[in-house]
Amino acid sequence: MNSLDQFARDKLSAREADNLRRHVVETAPLDGISLVRNGRRLLAFCTNDYLNLSQHPAVKAAAAAAVHQYGAGAGASRLITGSHPLYAELERRLARLKGTQAACVFGSGYLANTGILPALADAEDLIVCDELSHSCIRTGASLSRARVMLFRHNDVDHAAQLLAGNRARHPRAIVATEGVFSMDGDLAPLAELSELAQRHDAWLLTDDAHGIGVVGNGRGSAFAGNRAVDVPLQMGTLSKAIGGYGGYLCASEPVIALMHNRARTFIYTTGLPPSVVATAIAALDIIENEPDYAALPLRKARLFTRLTNLPDAESAIVPVMIGDTDRTLAASRLLEQEGFLVIAIRPPTVPAGTARLRFTFSAAHADADIERLATIVRERIMH
Ligand SMILES: *Cc1c(COP(=O)(O)O)cnc(C)c1O
Repeated sequence: MNSLDQFARDKLSAREADNLRRHVVETAPLDGISLVRNGRRLLAFCTNDYLNLSQHPAVKAAAAAAVHQYGAGAGASRLITGSHPLYAELERRLARLKGTQAACVFGSGYLANTGILPALADAEDLIVCDELSHSCIRTGASLSRARVMLFRHNDVDHAAQLLAGNRARHPRAIVATEGVFSMDGDLAPLAELSELAQRHDAWLLTDDAHGIGVVGNGRGSAFAGNRAVDVPLQMGTLSKAIGGYGGYLCASEPVIALMHNRARTFIYTTGLPPSVVATAIAALDIIENEPDYAALPLRKARLFTRLTNLPDAESAIVPVMIGDTDRTLAASRLLEQEGFLVIAIRPPTVPAGTARLRFTFSAAHADADIERLATIVRERIMH
């Protein structure tokens, strides 16, 4: 065998030994929450398409119309000829939703954070970041070469200690967190973090991938509390509740202009296809015009937490902690036998010893299915 394939096999067998090998499984969607995998129809409680907008007739029609009007692809980077007219409308709509001066759409949420952080920070600077922050925040932070310090999950006092002890040694500082934590479903204490960041002249960045469309009347985590929180860098994705693909940053006009000039994942990559941008505009129409519909994922998640005696869900994501990786995989298989697709989340996605089932709830789930799922979880997994 050549050394390249040998290398790949060695790396894979190490993962296999630890039960951490991942596989891509072909999965045919039927209607958003029902799908076919390995020849079986399953009801998914693991999609991030919280409002089922990827399947919404108005969203699909907007995508099709954009293909007919503008073609299938953008053809170039946004700075060349790829900034088709739909972009301006989407960016205006995102800025309005988030209450900022401007917005900038990126190719994906991952590309957004890996562009934003190096555009704002360099080797002299400090990035203080929640320890459970998504891989793309960590990658963006490391690409910036700034000093990165992690604070214990949602521990504002720890973040305050890190800033008090280190802020003065760096010209600029960023505090970064997820607004809704993707593997835990809890919310960041944004009011406290915003106050802390302002006290230290640090810039607060929230990754609201799981907040937009779901919490704060669909406006996201900065709007989930009693008062809107001032978050100067509101980043998120168009790939989850928005039902399509792409990422965004909502911020002030100068910050957005800086992204156009300094974010490498904006400058050196092709613009999103027009249909994808049209999808997001149509999704925002629904979120803004139908607040009762946008409230459904959280209501469904709370039905599940009530039935399983878990703390009230704060978002559409509910983890059921198991700890051990093998037992978590077995629980996921048991649910699959019962017709439910629920993913076992294992290290390194989550810290060692905190393997879990991650349930996500969609506006499209029927209460009766949630009740049947909760009974199985309560009686055969949580006992
Ligand atoms: C999914 C996710 C991303 C990445 O967004 P994509 O648009 O899928 O690239 C970023 N941050 C968090 C917290 C996420 O859950």
